[in-house]
Amino acid sequence: AKAAGRNTIRFFDPEIQTVIMARLALEADLERAMALNEFRLYFQLQANDQACVTGAEVLIRWLHPKRGLVSPAVFIPLAEETGAIVAIGDWVLEMACRQLQVWQDQPKFCHLRLAVNVSAVQFHRPDFTDKVSGLMARYSGVAGLLKLELTESVMLDSAEQVIRKIQLLKNLGIRFSMDDFGTGYSSLAYLKRLPLDQLKIDQSFVRDIASDPSAAVIIQTIIGMAQNLGLEVIAEGLETQEQLVLLKQYGCHHYQGYLLGKPLPIDQFEALLEQGDLS
Ligand code: C2E
Ligand code: CA
Ligand code: CA
Ligand code: CA
Repeated sequence: AKAAGRNTIRFFDPEIQTVIMARLALEADLERAMALNEFRLYFQLQANDQACVTGAEVLIRWLHPKRGLVSPAVFIPLAEETGAIVAIGDWVLEMACRQLQVWQDQPKFCHLRLAVNVSAVQFHRPDFTDKVSGLMARYSGVAGLLKLELTESVMLDSAEQVIRKIQLLKNLGIRFSMDDFGTGYSSLAYLKRLPLDQLKIDQSFVRDIASDPSAAVIIQTIIGMAQNLGLEVIAEGLETQEQLVLLKQYGCHHYQGYLLGKPLPIDQFEALLEQGDLS
């Protein structure tokens, strides 16, 4: 074995092997999770300055039979690698549309929008726009209430393709938000060409807004940029009153974060809105 070199020997390191086996097991479980009905959706409210709830972001959770709740931060990247994200993403989108349709008959909730995360892997599939158009045909009247959150990684593909796809879906009434803004690959020239509606300031900047002058500067720059491009700006990860005061002062008027509400299952989300003075 020694002659085969260090890498080969390292592979047989029992600790690394354990990690690899655990990952393979999780991958296999992930393939079955959809069929076994193990995914759940949580809803986290989004609100504006007037303490009006404008809608919610839809966040997926995986209720693993042995591991309990697995964070999407763990399984989404894995699903992107295996391709399972396509089926998962289709499911999330369909459930969001179904929820919007249910709310249409409820005066208390009929104005709410839903923001759905779309992975770049999912967005780049050639049939993505066809699938979403199909959904909009089946769930008529919900397109105007749907917002798709993309990340800067979509910009790794040709601008023409990306613009074409976004525009096609915008023509149906769907809105677009650029998630985690400021953390990824971002060509301003490219960004300027995208027909977006909203920039979402990443929570890492919001977290440090009061303590780190450079985070505050980045936030002010993003807000200025959004204003120049005619885009709405929303801050995520809002946890404290101090952060809220600063964001407002800098010109951000849309918020999401634990200060306003944690992600909740649908019944608790609706209960929060019904009892709260927020809506
Ligand atoms: P994200 O899209 O940036 O979502 C925001 C994350 O911040 C969520 O984590 C949310 O629970 C958390 N969060 C919200 N408010 C606060 C706050 O005040 N403080 C802090 N510290 N965190 C807050 P979550 O739910 O664990 O999701 C992690 C990531 O997984 C998401 O980040 C998103 O990238 C991905 N994800 C979640 N659901 C989906 C989905 O349906 N499809 C895809 N493609 N990705 C998803
Ligand atoms: Ca998001
Ligand atoms: Ca985000
Ligand atoms: Ca994030």
